[in-house]
Amino acid sequence: MDDDLSFSELLKDISLSVCSDIEIFNDPFVFINKLFSASDIIILDIKMPKMDGVEILRRLAIKKCQAKIILISGFDSSVLHSSSMLANELGLNVVAQVTKPVQAKQIQAIIRDINTEEKGVLKPIKANSSITKYALFSKKDILYAINNDQLILYYQPQIELKTKKLAGLEALVRWNHPEYGIIYPNDFIPLIAKYQLFEELTNKVIRIAIDQEKALKGYGYTIVISINISSCNVTSLTLPETLEELIDNAELEPSMLCFEVTESELMGELIPSMDTLTRMRIKGFKLSIDDFGTGYSSLLQLYRIPFHELKIDQSFIKNLMTSPESKIIVDICITLSHNLGMIVVAEGIEDQATLEELTRMGCDIGQGYHLCKPMDIASILCWIQKKSAEGLIIAVQANSK
Ligand code: C2E
Ligand code: MG
Ligand code: MG
Repeated sequence: MDDDLSFSELLKDISLSVCSDIEIFNDPFVFINKLFSASDIIILDIKMPKMDGVEILRRLAIKKCQAKIILISGFDSSVLHSSSMLANELGLNVVAQVTKPVQAKQIQAIIRDINTEEKGVLKPIKANSSITKYALFSKKDILYAINNDQLILYYQPQIELKTKKLAGLEALVRWNHPEYGIIYPNDFIPLIAKYQLFEELTNKVIRIAIDQEKALKGYGYTIVISINISSCNVTSLTLPETLEELIDNAELEPSMLCFEVTESELMGELIPSMDTLTRMRIKGFKLSIDDFGTGYSSLLQLYRIPFHELKIDQSFIKNLMTSPESKIIVDICITLSHNLGMIVVAEGIEDQATLEELTRMGCDIGQGYHLCKPMDIASILCWIQKKSAEGLIIAVQANSK
């Protein structure tokens, strides 16, 4: 769909080698009245005089269009990026963004990839991680899971980029359901929130993490474990004391635990959270601000709450190599953290190029599938032993007590 007749003819010629059935639309009103199926590919120009591309996207969304959409524009990449985010939020399926001038090879490669994926050769269809699938779980079911050892922790390594030292492990909860298998946090944490069970969940997660940290120490590894907590937890004023008691009983140091709070969650109850978080820091626990860049925290908050670490949101890391805007944001996060005396972590590193670029940019710590996927405690222990034997990471040996 492009108002420019000669450009759309050109696109048709380019696409003919990878796609046989091509229809050109130059009038947006004709285009939006057409029905598209999930196997169709739409190439849409964002800038058109009669009806702009964003308006067309909105109308396609109303019609619940499932076609794969390639957005094209002569604007700079930020307009394309915003339009693409908007479209995805409206439930459309934008698969690629291309800036003009268009290169024939690029368009052909995108269409070829879509067709291969369609045949199931490239990737399996992503599992539908929708909460509605599990909405049938009652509060009783979740409490039963918490109290009957159905919650397990997976761990994902965090690596110091300059030295390849193992800087820590992030504990990520999973529900090992007897009938449904492993259920991921995005599918059940909303229910924990709905039933107000954060205290029970966090207590359980902290206890498992401390036990497993002690076990790792038994194997000779002193490793900081990061635990995700919710803002509901930090409004509990007794949390610092509870934690202190648990860590004392396990004969571990508070500095071996780091608590991650997501930036977006810090908005609400700021005063009680500041109280709890500050006392946790005073007691020697580490604090991290997670998914930074997605919430709306003011810079003042960064300075008021004694975070020792900032984790840049994955969305910026994923687009680091393709979006100049993401790179600028990552760069600012690195400078901001360093100037405020914080360590900066990049999560969601999925390839070598991103890893190298982040190292070059001065990011301290990396985490992501390219380095290691989250694994259960037994597998992570094997991974640490294997990688340290190969000299690929340096795992800190425990100080003998
Ligand atoms: P998070 O704390 O930001 O954790 C990072 C998420 O990104 C994890 O998803 C991890 O598996 C995933 N991830 C790591 N590297 C990559 C990568 O390279 N590519 C991609 N695509 N993903 C990557 P997971 O385990 O599904 O956890 C999702 C969220 O659930 C976490 O986000 C955290 O906010 C929450 N969560 C996890 N465990 C707990 C918990 O014990 N308590 C609470 N309150 N929240 C938790
Ligand atoms: Mg986290
Ligand atoms: Mg995160």
